[in-house]
Amino acid sequence: MEVHRRSTAHRPYPPARKNALLLSCMDLRLIDDLVHFMEGDNLTNRYDQLVFAGAALGVMQPKHQSWRDVFFQHLDIAVELHGVQDVYIMEHRNCGAYVHFLGEQFDFDDTPLGQAAEEVEHRKHAFVLRDAIYAHCEERKRILGDDKLYNITVRSFLMDIRGSVRLLDLDGENYDF
Ligand SMILES: [Zn+2]
Repeated sequence: MEVHRRSTAHRPYPPARKNALLLSCMDLRLIDDLVHFMEGDNLTNRYDQLVFAGAALGVMQPKHQSWRDVFFQHLDIAVELHGVQDVYIMEHRNCGAYVHFLGEQFDFDDTPLGQAAEEVEHRKHAFVLRDAIYAHCEERKRILGDDKLYNITVRSFLMDIRGSVRLLDLDGENYDF
């Protein structure tokens, strides 16, 4: 089901109670769509945004390993300054960074088969980062010796070039909205 990107309806997850952090790609076609999507979660001016070419893939790819450090250093600042409790990983279709980092075979076409393969690839990288964020948060709690901070929920999404969004939830189980 596709609904207006500003709508709060049909969002199959609990709303963020506190501040959030959004990881997005740099893609210039989607800047306004990201703002509208966050507005639909009542998060206007309540989220930090980190922009990496390729979003989750960008953070975890091995070509520029410093990007991973940059992400987690900023995540720490977001948590410690703004009490962030929700991290949104926003992947997107037709992502040039996937071709840049992974090669031409990751330039997916618009056939149902191509779209499905694209979603599988994005889910894979989003979940790798999600698991790395959870591991990082557990480590930070251990180092800090208390568990008031770093109680993070990570949600992964896939936006198309129209700005419509799918929640990448459990493996193979997705929701359009
Ligand atoms: Zn992109």
